[in-house]
Amino acid sequence: MSRYWAEHVQLPSGLASRVRFEVTDGRFGAVDAGVDRESGDERFDGVVLPGFANAHSHAFHRALRGRTQADRGSFWTWRQQMYAVADRLNPDSYLELARAVFAEMTLAGMTVVGEFHYLHHDRSGRRYADPNAMGAALIQAAQEAGVRITLLDACYLSGGLDVNGHRPLDPVQQRFSDSSVTAWAERVAAMPESPTSRIGSALHSVRAVPEAALAEVADLAAPRPMHVHLSEQPAENHAVQAFYGCTPTQLLARHGLLGPETTAVHATHVTGSDITLLGDARTTVCFCPTTERDLADGIGPARALADGGSPICLGSDQHTVIDMFEEIRGLESHERLQSQERVGFTSAELVTAASAGGYNSLGWDGGRIAEGALADFIVVATDSVRTVGSRPDQVIHSATAADVRRVVVGGETVVSDGEHRLGPIAPMLAKALARLDDQP
Ligand SMILES: [Zn+2]
Repeated sequence: MSRYWAEHVQLPSGLASRVRFEVTDGRFGAVDAGVDRESGDERFDGVVLPGFANAHSHAFHRALRGRTQADRGSFWTWRQQMYAVADRLNPDSYLELARAVFAEMTLAGMTVVGEFHYLHHDRSGRRYADPNAMGAALIQAAQEAGVRITLLDACYLSGGLDVNGHRPLDPVQQRFSDSSVTAWAERVAAMPESPTSRIGSALHSVRAVPEAALAEVADLAAPRPMHVHLSEQPAENHAVQAFYGCTPTQLLARHGLLGPETTAVHATHVTGSDITLLGDARTTVCFCPTTERDLADGIGPARALADGGSPICLGSDQHTVIDMFEEIRGLESHERLQSQERVGFTSAELVTAASAGGYNSLGWDGGRIAEGALADFIVVATDSVRTVGSRPDQVIHSATAADVRRVVVGGETVVSDGEHRLGPIAPMLAKALARLDDQP
């Protein structure tokens, strides 16, 4: 058993002072606030927060960071650049890249990641000898980086949707598809879980899965977590309206795909009735503010969705930055820009979105510092040039990933004094990215 004491700890009831907490077998034991430190307690300066959940990641998109910013364009032109990276990955190079990317996440205080995985097959679209070689590489990468993972394995059947219906897969998209829902589900069912890895499902989008397949996906996905990209772009809404005569949210609802196990990613361009459908079903919504602004997607109705009953979580998605404080502030500041009012979400709500909201979305009993929960927590410095002077309950508004000093996952220290146990991560990233650049 390990015992800790800290001046400031974020508990489910709010920020508490002078807190002792214990960790046994990877879970929190007793948590007591307003008590003195005892001999043998390790002391944390700064603020202790629950570990962050990065609920929406495509690890390989990290290879595009700082390389797509020169030309005008849209989500769709960016996607062409993303496909070019996808075309170059194999299980070995993906392991190397994802290990470094997941390590970057742990440095940023992320203790669980939801990896939305659709890069399944080889460059010609054929299955690898192990049909789950790419997914296995991602799970191994997460384990080596010290972060929990829920692999959200995506069903992907068509190349897109326009007013005339679903398009065939283009050559790059062959890698994403299992050809049928049954083949997808059989492949996913063969993936083992472990104490630090879970398998969930994903529906890439209603662009990539025709209506005829939706009910079968809903059946096969249950009861595991199920994530879906939803209404990130107006073009998706227009195509679904033209071809199916409804909104993407209504299409999901019609086939039983909304509910507490479902997470809708983005939900940027949803209607008032979509918000009601999502909230009434208790569907979680995952916002990815740094991605949504980078890709010029728009600003989603976060407060309205939360008020409607949808839990909120956060993801760094395409990793234009990996910094949960940026996502937190993006969620809140985008709301301020829309509403022209300050404080749309309280600090406690923002911490919950960054932690417990994502843990629930990914099927883990964590993201909260409470007896019995997974002992995943981080320590944020309050003495850096960025954070000094901030009130402990408002430090999330001033800190960056660089202020994460300690990261503990299941009671094990992964990051100490801001250093990852694997050593310097930037050279790991550099090596993995150079390997991709060299590949034809
Ligand atoms: Zn995504």
